[in-house]
Amino acid sequence: ATTGVDLRPLRQPRKLQNVLYEIRGPVAARAAQLEMEGHRILKLNIGNPAPFGFEAPDTILQDMIAALPIAQGYSDSKGILSARRAVVSRYQDVPGFPRVDVDDVYLGNGVSELIMMTLSALLDDGDEVLVPAPDYPLWTAATSLAGGSPVHYLCAEEDGWQPSIEDIRSKITPRTKALVVINPNNPTGAVYSKELLTELVQVAREHSLLLLADEIYDRILFDDAEHVSLATLADDLLVLTFNGLSKTYRVAGYRAGWMVVSGPRHHAAGFLEGIDLLASTRLCPNVPAQHAIQVAVSGLQSITDLIQPGGRLHEQRDLAHEMLNAMDGVSCTKPAGALYAFPRLDPEVHEIHDDMQLCLDLLERERILVVHGTGFNWPSPDHLRIVTLPWARDLRVALERMGNFLSSYRQ
Ligand code: PLP
Repeated sequence: ATTGVDLRPLRQPRKLQNVLYEIRGPVAARAAQLEMEGHRILKLNIGNPAPFGFEAPDTILQDMIAALPIAQGYSDSKGILSARRAVVSRYQDVPGFPRVDVDDVYLGNGVSELIMMTLSALLDDGDEVLVPAPDYPLWTAATSLAGGSPVHYLCAEEDGWQPSIEDIRSKITPRTKALVVINPNNPTGAVYSKELLTELVQVAREHSLLLLADEIYDRILFDDAEHVSLATLADDLLVLTFNGLSKTYRVAGYRAGWMVVSGPRHHAAGFLEGIDLLASTRLCPNVPAQHAIQVAVSGLQSITDLIQPGGRLHEQRDLAHEMLNAMDGVSCTKPAGALYAFPRLDPEVHEIHDDMQLCLDLLERERILVVHGTGFNWPSPDHLRIVTLPWARDLRVALERMGNFLSSYRQ
């Protein structure tokens, strides 16, 4: 309605220009519209375990429910002590993890909030952060939002998606402040060897880089994959390790995550004070969910049943891997961890110029929702990410339909 009042246009500020999060971008918006119109969409786009029948251990729910009466007030900005103590003992059980105490632990509304806080506290305009390509795109978005420049280092598909040390070295400048390592990796499912991680730490050591270790999938490992925490190889460097309840404990909706600061701090007082400041300005994380942390990390680790042979996650990973590789012109490195597959569409067979358009067309024709590879800051339009969370029967239907669609798709 026109009111006659002269309203100033509210445009998007420049600082949002390079901030993208395509996992919930235009393709997902179109899917939501189709659902509103009554269509059933097979959603393979978000690593959100609960809606796929992965229920959280009951003890987690019970503890949180029991805590509701005492969780009405704000907590300490860093989080409640019992949860931070539980996080400390979780890392004391990781062989070689540097000694940390409750003051080194920050709880957040998911890892996401802690990533945002960290980059805001770290970066001046134009400071650079080395982020993997492909990446979990929040790292790139949070760097841009904080005024920094994300610089993408390549992970080599032919090398099992391992980061290229050579590429990392070639991209370091005097403005590089931090190196982001996502292990196990989203979207590729790669799990990095101790040798490779040691080389990454060595680069950080030589160039005095802050290490940011996103290890939210550290317990979602298949076959003989072993996870090595980056901090265990770098007790002489400042390392921030990120993890939480969203994946291993399947309660992504509770928004419970943590960040552990390890290594020397004497050179980083300003940065760490900045984090404290930002932790206080958000007052505190969701308090009822903080009460779920202690029982989750110290109780029965029910994820183990899901990842071993015969477990749902293991079977679905195998099924996705096999079906994708059976498609003409599609290849997929076997994910060693996490909840995703990141198949390649051979450009000789599938000539794709716009991978988001491909996902939109797949959605319109087959009602299947996946995310385009460029949404993970992958430089060419020749990959897709699917989540391996749906029940095998749904995954099978989705991948059969995707295979048929691709066999006749032209752009
Ligand atoms: N880091 C990675 C690698 C992720 O895949 C995700 C979620 O998908 C997050 C962080 C964010 O998790 P949270 O739910 O704790 O905010």
